[in-house]
Amino acid sequence: MDRQQEFVLRTVEDRNVRFVRLWFTDILGQLKSVAIAPAELEGAFTEGLGFDGSSVEGFSRVHESDMVLRPDPSTFSLLPWRGETEPTGRMFCDIYNTDGEPAAVDPRNVLKRAMDRAAALGFTFYVHPEIEFYLFRSAHLKGGLPEPVDEAGYFDHVPGGTANDFRRAAVNMLESMGLSVEFSHHEAGPGQNEIDLRYADGLTMADNVMTFKAVVKEVALSQGVYASFMPKPLEGQPGSGMHTHMSLFEGETNAFFEAGAQYQLSRTARQFIAGVLRHAREISAITNQYVNSYKRIWTGHEAPSYICWGHNNRSALVRVPQYKSGKESSARIEYRALDSAANPYLAYAALLSAGLKGIEEKYELPEGAEDDVWSLSPQERRAMGIKALPNSLNDALEHMEESELVAEVLGEQAFDFFLRNKYQEWNDYRAQVTPFELRHHFGTL
Ligand code: GLN
Ligand code: MG
Ligand code: MG
Ligand code: MG
Repeated sequence: MDRQQEFVLRTVEDRNVRFVRLWFTDILGQLKSVAIAPAELEGAFTEGLGFDGSSVEGFSRVHESDMVLRPDPSTFSLLPWRGETEPTGRMFCDIYNTDGEPAAVDPRNVLKRAMDRAAALGFTFYVHPEIEFYLFRSAHLKGGLPEPVDEAGYFDHVPGGTANDFRRAAVNMLESMGLSVEFSHHEAGPGQNEIDLRYADGLTMADNVMTFKAVVKEVALSQGVYASFMPKPLEGQPGSGMHTHMSLFEGETNAFFEAGAQYQLSRTARQFIAGVLRHAREISAITNQYVNSYKRIWTGHEAPSYICWGHNNRSALVRVPQYKSGKESSARIEYRALDSAANPYLAYAALLSAGLKGIEEKYELPEGAEDDVWSLSPQERRAMGIKALPNSLNDALEHMEESELVAEVLGEQAFDFFLRNKYQEWNDYRAQVTPFELRHHFGTL
């Protein structure tokens, strides 16, 4: 038993904790949870807790199904929505095979492997996300469509609005769990909101995103509304992105910063950007994993469609935010493709690995795009060497299938499972005869 484990045991006793939930995440980014009694906690620390991996999306084959959860004591927290009197605690877990090896398919392990590769080059990966989501009146569709809680727009103050109360309650709850929030505001869509978390290392942040989603869902439920992280829930309205700000640190030094360089971007930063741009299509199925994700990518509203970078350019895939003088530590780049339904562990692992590849192979950064790339003609874009993100999940999967980078990042089993699962989604989608087709063709063909 180490000191952190002992601390958790003591807290559980002192606070009269009734249940401890062990959390982990499947390949598709769904949160999984098993509650144990405090008496079982010591055993969970020393021996782990066995479970049937074959029942979890992508984890194992039925004939080798036993897997083991090991709680990470550094992630212990009480769940505020479970009350104060007999509180519930929770910890994120790492997943092991019965032979004691970390499970290659555990998304947390996928990200740890990527972070270890960064560490071998002397880097720590820092991230902060801007998480967008919608609040709807109910999880049930009214007349076939989701019904937003308000009709407000970007930065609107809604007097007496559900969204204000909601954001205040959500931010309070997040902070009580140790997640610092930088900004929160109404977003452009009706009922759409955004909450931005303060930066942390990649692994902590991926855990935080999972906590964030659970908190937002709980707060919504307690206020009688429904929160959705679906990438594009409403036709004709903005989708929900999860813009991801990234930097690499060498010890205390921001390796992306270089005083006097263009936009204060160091060579490392330029190579990192070149890496994520060159591999953007291959990692797209990870950063944008649903059929629905491509409805966001290809319908404007400031979601990126083309692979380029720019300074403060909100039509670019990678934006280099304005540098605030004296704030070297905040020099960073923003990757705008990710949507709120991505598995944060896999998405951060893919982005980091693409960026590191750029550094290792010394990729040249193409020239930045300072125009609105949507308003350029296809010929102009071609002349500038600007390619498009995949058109559809199918297109993204075809790029991923050919990608050595993604195969290596995910490991063989997760890679195969992911492709199989997602091609199935595409095939099911393709098999539909949609209202669009009936509207356009039934009466005329
Ligand atoms: N909702 C937009 C997206 O999908 C982002 C809008 C914004 O934050 N500027 O990426
Ligand atoms: Mg924002
Ligand atoms: Mg936003
Ligand atoms: Mg942004």
